Amino acid sequence: MVRLCSQCNPIPFVAKSQVDAASVSLINALLCRRIVLYLPAVHFFPKAMSIAQDKLIRIREQVQSHLDRVDRVRMTPEQRSELEARIKDNLARENAVLVAHYYTSPEVQALAEATGGCVSDSLEMARFGRDHPAETLIVAGVRFMGETAKILTPHKRVLMPDLEATCSLDLGCPADEFAAFCDAHPDREVVVYANTSAAVKARADWVVTSSIALDVAEHLAEQGKKIIWAPDRHLGDYVRRMTGADILMWDGACIVHEEFKARGIEQLKQVHPEAGVLVHPESPSSVVEIADFVGSTTQIIKAAQRLPHETFIVATDHGIFFKLQQAAPDKHFIIAPTAGEGATCRSCANCPWMAMNDLERLATVFDRPDNEIFVAAAVATDAMRPLDRMLAFAAELNTGVVGRA
Ligand code: SF4
Repeated sequence: MVRLCSQCNPIPFVAKSQVDAASVSLINALLCRRIVLYLPAVHFFPKAMSIAQDKLIRIREQVQSHLDRVDRVRMTPEQRSELEARIKDNLARENAVLVAHYYTSPEVQALAEATGGCVSDSLEMARFGRDHPAETLIVAGVRFMGETAKILTPHKRVLMPDLEATCSLDLGCPADEFAAFCDAHPDREVVVYANTSAAVKARADWVVTSSIALDVAEHLAEQGKKIIWAPDRHLGDYVRRMTGADILMWDGACIVHEEFKARGIEQLKQVHPEAGVLVHPESPSSVVEIADFVGSTTQIIKAAQRLPHETFIVATDHGIFFKLQQAAPDKHFIIAPTAGEGATCRSCANCPWMAMNDLERLATVFDRPDNEIFVAAAVATDAMRPLDRMLAFAAELNTGVVGRA
């Protein structure tokens, strides 16, 4: 039985998926965008992490304010076309390119593609921004993505629709506490996920994305190196199980992926027994264990094309449906349930910070003084080393020099 929260605001996201009425109700319930506000702080940040209570409250207020605003803005098709035209004109006039993450809205992803930009995961976004000739990068994603773009291309102007768009993994790994943690374990190689601040990257030996996490851990394990892994404990746990690497874990989590529930997916599988299950490794191990495929966003899209299933249950942010449907137009995609039986309105499989990249903010991105990314030179220099190492390692993987290319 599906229980809706009192303010559930269903949206027909699954129109393209030919599922039965019960599934549509379930999925629409999962897409209620108010979830964040119902969670006590402990759901955002596990106890082991020390995020100040006032900071948590501020974050929750920011998200609330955004969600209130989203509900107010109901654009007509004409208003939307007008905004899109304005954004296109601005990009051309300012010699700028739009680099968008898979988790942004379909409108933003379509605009990035229509204007010669890129829609991708954070690794490819970083590469694309570095290699593109545009003088200005508009990064539609979350803050660490803008910082990474700035570090890799310090001579370019990097703007974001909203600098408050952050990430629970980044927030859950304060640089000073992480540095102390690393100092206490000097015998370990420090591997941090891309979803961290520039200051945390500056303390790392390696930066990884979910695309190359397994390869880097395997590479280090082969050399007999012990690892500090931060901040995502679910990804770290997956990497440890797959590679056998000796990993000491930081205790962070993604508020979107952590809410996927194995029991809910199994129940959905009873409705769609033929469906394959695609899972991002930021999900809990119980969800990873029932997957037909586990991988990064880009790898999930490729798996949807490659695997024989005609229907997939997808455990990652539903922004990815835009590219999934493009890549495999004849297949059907269903978002994975986030809370099993009962309270289904807990994460909606939609990152509230990614949702801040709306058309309105994109249209005014050149007009506002408060949305340019800056990274202190010393931090950028130190963060550049592990980022360069990641890009070089990924390039070697693609040429088959190392790892499982
Ligand atoms: Fe961070 Fe999760 Fe949002 Fe990605 S989906 S930006 S990992 S909170």
